[in-house]
Amino acid sequence: MSEQVALRFIKGIGPRRAEALAAVGIEQAADLVEVFPFRWEDRRAFVRVADLRPQGPEATLDLRVVSARLIRTRKRGFTIFTAVLADASGSIKAVWYNQPYLERVLVKDARVVVFGRAATDRYGRELVLDNPEYERLDSDDDAGIHTGRIVPVYRKLGGLASRALRSVMHGVLEALQEGDLDDPVPEDVRVRRGLTPRLAALRAMHFPPDDTAMSDLSLRRAPAQRALAFEEIFLVQLALAERRSQVERAARGAHYEIPDALRVKLAKLLPFKLTNAQKRVLKEIGEDLRSSHPMNRLVQGDVGSGKTIVALLSLLVAIENGYQGVLMAPTEILADQHARSILRILRDAGTDVRVSVLTGSLKAAAKRRALEDIGNGHAQLVIGTHALFEAGVEFARLGMVVVDEQHRFGVMQRMALSSKGTRPDVLVMTATPIPRSLALTLYGDLDLSVIDELPPGRTPITTVVRREAEREKVYEGLRREVAGGRQVYVVVPLVEETAASDLKAATVFAAHLKKDVFPSLEIGLLHGRLKGEEKDRVMQDFARGAIQILVATTVIEVGVDVANASVMVVEHAERFGLSQLHQLRGRVGRGAAKSYCVLMVGDEGEGENARERLKTMEETGDGFTIAEKDLELRGPGAVFGTQQHGLSDLQFLAVILRDPGLLDAARDEAMGLAKAGGADAVFARLGGTWRKRLELPAVG
Ligand code: ADP
Ligand code: MG
Repeated sequence: MSEQVALRFIKGIGPRRAEALAAVGIEQAADLVEVFPFRWEDRRAFVRVADLRPQGPEATLDLRVVSARLIRTRKRGFTIFTAVLADASGSIKAVWYNQPYLERVLVKDARVVVFGRAATDRYGRELVLDNPEYERLDSDDDAGIHTGRIVPVYRKLGGLASRALRSVMHGVLEALQEGDLDDPVPEDVRVRRGLTPRLAALRAMHFPPDDTAMSDLSLRRAPAQRALAFEEIFLVQLALAERRSQVERAARGAHYEIPDALRVKLAKLLPFKLTNAQKRVLKEIGEDLRSSHPMNRLVQGDVGSGKTIVALLSLLVAIENGYQGVLMAPTEILADQHARSILRILRDAGTDVRVSVLTGSLKAAAKRRALEDIGNGHAQLVIGTHALFEAGVEFARLGMVVVDEQHRFGVMQRMALSSKGTRPDVLVMTATPIPRSLALTLYGDLDLSVIDELPPGRTPITTVVRREAEREKVYEGLRREVAGGRQVYVVVPLVEETAASDLKAATVFAAHLKKDVFPSLEIGLLHGRLKGEEKDRVMQDFARGAIQILVATTVIEVGVDVANASVMVVEHAERFGLSQLHQLRGRVGRGAAKSYCVLMVGDEGEGENARERLKTMEETGDGFTIAEKDLELRGPGAVFGTQQHGLSDLQFLAVILRDPGLLDAARDEAMGLAKAGGADAVFARLGGTWRKRLELPAVG
């Protein structure tokens, strides 16, 4: 390993900045240079004041402060700072609000670079720069770093603002020499794939060469970025390949047999005929169960495709072979619903499987009993929330774990499962359709099965966008549906940051519907803050038809299954993400009745992006199309949320989506290296940041 280069030894950093960075865990040059800019600004060319046009494009100007003054308005604390700035061609006024300290920064004669858009003032008389970004240049050196080039813009780090960080970064990248940084990509791979050498790639990432196209930068497809993206994908794939081969090497904890008698027994249990897709996936699972390695499989299937029965049949194989099985759900509502519907199926089939339910809201005594049953092996099937994996839950003979709605569980939790004593078989189920490339990136350690067919007899859901002016008509429609014996969900969005105010919004809306709109109907209210048993009661009342209209927050987003509900009204639909709308809509269309999804747009209307989302919902019911549109509109970071994939800093997910060739190349190289036994050597060289990102155990 090459020597680490500590930041505090680099010229120009100074003890204060080094300390500030150390406080956020960045002590080595190698760690700092991986803090990438989140955007770049084109400051290659300066615009002259004389060439500024009102409402023209954003411009960079190199100016000197002619005069400046701070005005405090009579309204307490409000300040306006105005400066007259000039270059050789003329002068312009700039205004900043509530930044009184500028008085000390933009002093007379200071040289300042500003970046912004000029507009005519409100009297229509002169051009002003309203709140432009600014940078004071203190020395001629600054000009080479902060202006006259494409400059990186960073998020604040350890108290260092973008500009300070830029200076530090520049100093560090200049001080480093080829060989000072470890290269996680083996030399021969880098050469074979024609990748920019590491230090050069890092330099170009932070301070792009002058001939770089801005659009390439923002799409992360400049050569330096491709090289860094490759590095990231390569390491992730290498880690996944290692994890996979660990699973393959591990002997399974449980031993299963699937004799014909068991097949017949399970077939009798079925309340319906399986779809071909369900059969195919069960066959894949069956093969896993007969092999000598633990199962590690992801089942992907759109909402309503029938994943629950697949899970149940798999769990019963484990149970019939004398092991315990666990079904884990992301919410209590869903866990309770699974428990109810599974108990019904088991009872109807006359089987005597012993089921325990374990959720966070169980009373102490009930919880103790459940834990006892789980610990002494009395419980054969355990259904619960992730409370199941808190300390203190010991299984007698755990054989299989099914994780429902995987997108709510991170990689960490996935790993925690398989470390519960023996190695259980793991089946994770998700309704989030993930494009192949992302699935490989995030779940490359899992085998993939897809249920790509809905059970027969489903009528497609008609989706319409409606506005406030049409609200009465919507209510009339709801009355008709209810009169026909059907039920309705009304989902209200999260309005504020605080749970309390959301609760209020939902409560107020439910009360309004009851009092002013549907006085003769039963209106239920469901939200995340209800106690477990209240939630239960509301859901049961809705399931048995005692409630006609259920007003709910997004707690019902995942998995809730009431076949008689035929209308889903989403209030302020413009505030929801696409995938979320799709999940919500999946709550209806589960029975034979024609179903509707009404997307209500609030009075404020919707933005461009929201309009696209709503249009997509109207046009398609296909989860894959929707997922891809969602990725396109929001980007993978937002769609998968950092806490969800656990690879919290994947900087280049976007690149992967656009450039599958790069993914394939990185994956091939990683697989090849893992097979040749070279993974450990690469991991041993990795610094702390990478270890964290890949969740590798620390080397001891
Ligand atoms: P999801 O994949 O969203 O979890 P569920 O397992 O909740 O879907 O199934 C949705 C509904 O479809 C349930 O009411 C279930 O009983 C029903 N179902 C599942 N498979 C079939 C099938 N093969 N034929 C008919 N109905 C089915
Ligand atoms: Mg489900």
